Amino acid sequence: MIYYILQGHELQNDVQTMIQVFYPNLHYNRRDEVAPLGVSVVSCMEKGIASAMLYRDGEKVLEWFTEYQDGIVEKEEKRLVKWAIYELLKEETGLRPQWGLLTGVRPAKIISGLLAEGKDEAFCLAYLTKDYLVMEHKAKLALAVAKAEQMILGENKPDDISLYIGIPFCPTRCLYCSFTSYPLAQYKNRVDEYLEAMFLELEYLAAYAKDFHLKNIYIGGGTPTSLSEQQLKRLLDKVAMLFDTKNMEYTVEAGRPDTITEEKLRIMKEYGVNRISINPQTMNEETLDRIGRRHSVEDIRRVFHEARAVGHENINMDLILGLPGEKPQDVENTMQEIMALAPDNITVHTLAVKRASRLKEEFDQHTLSTAESLEKMLGIAAEYAWKMGMEPYYMYRQKNMVGNFENVGYCHPGKEGKYNVQIMEEKQTVLAAGAGASTKVVDPVTDKIERIFNVKSVEDYITRIEEMIERKKKGLPKGGWK
Ligand code: SF4
Repeated sequence: MIYYILQGHELQNDVQTMIQVFYPNLHYNRRDEVAPLGVSVVSCMEKGIASAMLYRDGEKVLEWFTEYQDGIVEKEEKRLVKWAIYELLKEETGLRPQWGLLTGVRPAKIISGLLAEGKDEAFCLAYLTKDYLVMEHKAKLALAVAKAEQMILGENKPDDISLYIGIPFCPTRCLYCSFTSYPLAQYKNRVDEYLEAMFLELEYLAAYAKDFHLKNIYIGGGTPTSLSEQQLKRLLDKVAMLFDTKNMEYTVEAGRPDTITEEKLRIMKEYGVNRISINPQTMNEETLDRIGRRHSVEDIRRVFHEARAVGHENINMDLILGLPGEKPQDVENTMQEIMALAPDNITVHTLAVKRASRLKEEFDQHTLSTAESLEKMLGIAAEYAWKMGMEPYYMYRQKNMVGNFENVGYCHPGKEGKYNVQIMEEKQTVLAAGAGASTKVVDPVTDKIERIFNVKSVEDYITRIEEMIERKKKGLPKGGWK
């Protein structure tokens, strides 16, 4: 438990997230005064001094401060509050977080904003490294991603939208998973009913989408390929009947190799799916067992070759660095295997210990990588991406990521997952169908975002489908933005 106390300001979120960078996966508790036992961090903005103090068992052991002029804007106030805590905890822990004071999920967004204001690249890099203490190689990564994202976002038109379809079933639950995902064995008898309900929602969304230009369809989950061949065909057939799927990015997150068959790959190809994901996470057998994936490395290779054989030309592979028990050498092995397969995109995640995951429950039973080891792993992944001729094109961060690093999508130029960028940058409306899916309405003029949520439970979704549709009737703006 870490206690924190605010004096002279109310920037609770900024204080807690900055502390979290140094002490991830603990409990954080705001108090009015220093705790008599344990560690307390005091953040203070008073009389022209921004300071942070560390107390252990009620005794002050460390302090850092800087001066400021009266009348500073809120953004600067936040920066100073974080800076003081950063310097304090850097000294206390000996850690030097590579993203400096940046704790948000989209580090590239700051650069996008600066580029849009007409600032040049040198200014952007200096802004991140000097004002926000970001390490130079991370600032360069953020710049590269911001430029790649701008190319995609620059094509956006006000009436462009995307569609997300959620299939919340998986064969087993992975150790680190916090998504809406239900074990297939238990829900097998309800999948058809689920599809029937979702088709009603899709019918409504298709009628609504006629006023717009549908640019991307993304079928995710869960694991969409946990549907049987017949069910997958029914789903894709329904989508084809309702939407014009030509000339768009049409993705199915095939996901786990233990759910993919040659026939399913063929069905996807036949219905115009032009981007699939086959997600190994690691190419090390022992780790696959440890994280609860019931497939082998050989399954991954087989499925990948089958996908190529039936004509899939844009294949993404998701990887996770820092999985329990893995060392940089294991990542080297994974990347060698991946390079031999030669996918078109890779998405390199760093492990996040999410609240709703088994990993969080079993935290004490697993050995997680140190920040130092993760940094090596990220370097290895980036080097192999470069060797494969890929460039970074999107990036995001999550809370409780081990080492406070980042997730990066790399691809061969022209093979960017455009839906990923739209989701990340929140510049496009995304209609969403399925249990746990949330529709995001983005006003293209003001960038204001409204969300319409679906219930998470499969049972509730099936029985309350009319209500889910009603929520959209009420929440979606009528007749587009014209
Ligand atoms: S495949 Fe994905 S959604 Fe399914 S349990 Fe694993 S992490 Fe969760």
